[in-house]
Amino acid sequence: MTNRIYLSPPDIGPLEEAYVRTALRSGWVAPVGPELDTFEREIAARVGVEHAVAVGSGTAALHLALLSLGVGPDQVVVVPTLTFVATANAVGYTGARPVLVDVDPATGNIDVGLLADLLPRLRDAGEEVAAVMPVDMFGSCADYATLLPLCEAAGIPVVEDSAQALGSTYQGRAAGSFGRIAALSFNGNKIITTSGGGMVVSDDAALVDRCRHLSTQAREPVPHYEHIDVGYNYRLSNVLAALGRAQLRRLEEMLSRRRFLRERYAKLFAAVPGVRLLADGDTGSNCWLTTIIVDPDLAGWRADELGAHLAKQNIETRPNWKPMHQQPLFAGVEAVLTGAADRLFANGLTLPSGSALNETQIHRVMDAIAGFLAAGR
Ligand SMILES: *Cc1c(COP(=O)(O)O)cnc(C)c1O
Repeated sequence: MTNRIYLSPPDIGPLEEAYVRTALRSGWVAPVGPELDTFEREIAARVGVEHAVAVGSGTAALHLALLSLGVGPDQVVVVPTLTFVATANAVGYTGARPVLVDVDPATGNIDVGLLADLLPRLRDAGEEVAAVMPVDMFGSCADYATLLPLCEAAGIPVVEDSAQALGSTYQGRAAGSFGRIAALSFNGNKIITTSGGGMVVSDDAALVDRCRHLSTQAREPVPHYEHIDVGYNYRLSNVLAALGRAQLRRLEEMLSRRRFLRERYAKLFAAVPGVRLLADGDTGSNCWLTTIIVDPDLAGWRADELGAHLAKQNIETRPNWKPMHQQPLFAGVEAVLTGAADRLFANGLTLPSGSALNETQIHRVMDAIAGFLAAGR
C-alpha cells in the first residue's frame, strides 16, 4: 500500500531539530527561559501587537483571553456555530454561556448581518454580552470592517479566535490584531506547530499581564506561595518555544506552499460544475486548509463520495466542522440560524493542505481527484 497522505501533518526539518537541541543543551527545559521570551516577542512582532504570552494550547489561550476580560457566570459570549469545539468550550470553562450564530456561506465566517440584529436583541432581553468571538475560518479573516464598528458601538469587546490564521491578513493587517485580545494555536496540524501550544496576543498590557499571571497558578509576587485567584498551569515549555521559533523562521516558505496547493485545487475544480472553494479569492488567507463545497444537484456527486474515493487511495480528507448547534454537548444552547452552517457541513470536504506535502504526494492527490471526476461524468 502506498503511504498515507495526511490532511495537515507537522512540517518539521533540520532547523527545528537544531533549535530544540540548542534549547535542551541550554538547560532551560522548564516552562520558563529565553526561548519563551523571544518566541513571544517574535510572534507579537509578526502579528503587529505589543504583547504576547505563550501557553500550552490554543484552547488555553482562548480561556485566558476570556478570563482576562472578566468573562464569567451569568454572562453570554457570541460565537459562530461553525467552528472547532474549542471556541465554545473556552466560553463554557468561564461559566458563561455561548450564543451561537450562523455563518456567511461564502466564507464560513460569522454572519455579521445576524450579529447586528442579535446584539440589541440580547441586550433588550436583559442578557449581559461579555464578548463576541469571531473565528478566522481556515485562515480567512472574519468581516472585521463590519464587525468591529458593530461591537464597538455596542460596547462589547472582541476576542479573536485566530487559532487557524497565523500569517493571514485582512485589508493589510495581520490576523490576531483585530480583537481587543486574540488567541493563536500551534497545535500539530496548524500552520506552525510547537507540537501543542498557543499564544494570547494583544496591544493591552494589562490584559496580557493578567493572562500571564493566571497561566502560572496565579502566584502572587512574594517569596512564599501566596494565592488570591484561581490559577492554571498553562505555560508553554521553553523547549517547545524553541521549536516554535524555528517554525516561525520558516513561516513565509510554509505559507507559500499552502497557497500553492490552494491554487492547484482552484485550477483543478475551476471547470467542475457545482464545486466551489470556501472563501475563494481571499488573497489574504494563509490557506491553512482548503475546503471545497459541493452542490450535489449540480455536480452529480456528493462531497462525502469524493472523500470515500480518496480514503481508498490512502488520502485523508475531513468533513467540514460539524456545527456546534448540532452537537449533543450544546443541545438547548441559544442559536440564530439560517441553515448556512448546516449546508457547509453537509456539502463540505477539506482536502490535504499541509506545507509538508511533496510534489509526488500532490500529484497523487490531484490524480486521484481527477480520476474520480472522470469516472463520475
Ligand atoms: C485549533 C483550534 C483551537 C484550539 O487550539 P488547540 O491548540 O488545539 O487547543 C481553537 N479554535 C479553533 C478555531 C481552532 O481551529
